[in-house]
Amino acid sequence: MTDQPAPSGGVLRHDETTGRVRYAVTGGIDLGDGAPDGPAARAALARELGVEPDRLLLPTQVHGADVLVVDGPWAGDVPQADGLVVTVPGAAAGVRAADCMPLLLGDGERGLAAAVHVGRAGLQGGIVGVAVDALARLGATSLLARLGPTVCGSCYEVPEQMRDEVAALVPAAAGTTRDGTPSVDIPAGVRVQLAAAASAAGVQVEIDDSWGGCTMEDPLSFSHRRDAPTGRHAGVVVVLP
Ligand SMILES: [Zn+2]
Repeated sequence: MTDQPAPSGGVLRHDETTGRVRYAVTGGIDLGDGAPDGPAARAALARELGVEPDRLLLPTQVHGADVLVVDGPWAGDVPQADGLVVTVPGAAAGVRAADCMPLLLGDGERGLAAAVHVGRAGLQGGIVGVAVDALARLGATSLLARLGPTVCGSCYEVPEQMRDEVAALVPAAAGTTRDGTPSVDIPAGVRVQLAAAASAAGVQVEIDDSWGGCTMEDPLSFSHRRDAPTGRHAGVVVVLP
């Protein structure tokens, strides 16, 4: 949308490397499938990350709970998934969001990483646990979990029945808006699911939410609820040598 403030400058808004995993969240470039200049945006992101364009892997997201392990260029059509795991240097995985959370997971010692798209449906489907399990099966023992920007529990109003459906599966995600109406608290749900999944899989997890501001409240974030139709930022992980 041309009347929106330009989200923060540069291709990357957040960028940090821990061991052999680089974590990033994009800034103002629109990486959505409907972006007017999608190929150029993806190329700019690949260049910024230092990966080959065809190894910047962005799945077709369907609000499901499938997590794929992929390292090379797509063999055929872009697959439908809401989480990707990458395991070899030079492979980058990203998920796009504009209120849902891009959750970035990595084991910097072993060079394993995942990008996971978590919204209300993802919480209910348990994709956080699927991703942690996938990383544990590949040998991860100690994960850093970076919670990306997402709509917060004070803003994400939903019908009461929907809140109750989420709460039945993820009690911690039941929230209340600042107006006192029912809401879903995605960050709270993700935290609980991360801790539970890590414990069940026998891996350590450290949660860092310093990148996790509220998309609806932050004019520099894309927010579907505030501005639909709007663009998408991406959370990306890269495995380093
Ligand atoms: Zn908020």
